[in-house]
Amino acid sequence: MGDTRADRSLLADLSLARSTLDRVAEKRGDADWVAGRWADPSSRVLLVHDGATPIEMSPQGIPRLRLAAPRAAGDAEVALLGLDDSGTAYFCARVEDRTAEPGEWQGLREVGAALSDRDVGLLVAAVALDNWHAAHPHCARCGEPTLMSSAGWVRVCAADGSEHYPRTDPAVIVLVIDDDDRALLGRQGRWQPSWFSTLAGFVEPGESAEAAVRREVFEEAGVRVGEMAYLGSQPWPFPCSLMLGYHAWATTTDVRVDGEEIVEARWFSRDELARACESREIALPPAVSIARRLVERWYGEPLKGDWIRP
Ligand SMILES: [Zn+2]
Repeated sequence: MGDTRADRSLLADLSLARSTLDRVAEKRGDADWVAGRWADPSSRVLLVHDGATPIEMSPQGIPRLRLAAPRAAGDAEVALLGLDDSGTAYFCARVEDRTAEPGEWQGLREVGAALSDRDVGLLVAAVALDNWHAAHPHCARCGEPTLMSSAGWVRVCAADGSEHYPRTDPAVIVLVIDDDDRALLGRQGRWQPSWFSTLAGFVEPGESAEAAVRREVFEEAGVRVGEMAYLGSQPWPFPCSLMLGYHAWATTTDVRVDGEEIVEARWFSRDELARACESREIALPPAVSIARRLVERWYGEPLKGDWIRP
């Protein structure tokens, strides 16, 4: 991204935060305009089902979205994602299964890091919106069915007219560093024995992000943190999170894991971490994650070895 005004202290080019889409939120309520774009055969639709979409390979062997003309959506619910630089309109369609489009379907974890800025912006918005619609078929006030409105960005209760807006749940993710410049990495009980990552957790109601960092690090690893630096955010629609990335500096170093979410946490010097990654003793989350970027920003260069799902 060529934004020269960007704060260079922040993490740049987070894989899922590269969208170049103009969301044209001001147009969503203009039903005639939206219908006109939907009727335009040059508009494109992204089919989405359970976090995945049709993917094809470019002649250069790089994955890209396999977009369709609007008629491919059939009678699926559709939402307006936005416009690209050329003014082409993009929609997503929530399909029941993958039979609407034979061939390869993949999700953000598989292809998010490799997609173009435009494509990752389309897919991350489509998946986040799809997850929200799937989870909110009924009114939170009265329980009656809700219907899509405002080009897919609102659901309206058929009974009481109340409007319901898409949810994004803020979560903090933090690499804790001590006075000896060691980094604290933890492992969840449901992970493979070699998988390690940064600590993370949801921001609770009435809580600041910074307070959530302090609480989560203490809860999960028993470590107290003092100063911290916010380094950037990226959407993480699994199903609807926004990850707020931090480095935080420890004021205590004794580790006491909670044994529930985190079953093991260890301090790593730079040398220890590089050797452990090299020997495959430990593996880090993939490049698409903000966790990996937080670790590599501290380390100073890319590290080897990704989580491999069994
Ligand atoms: Zn209602």
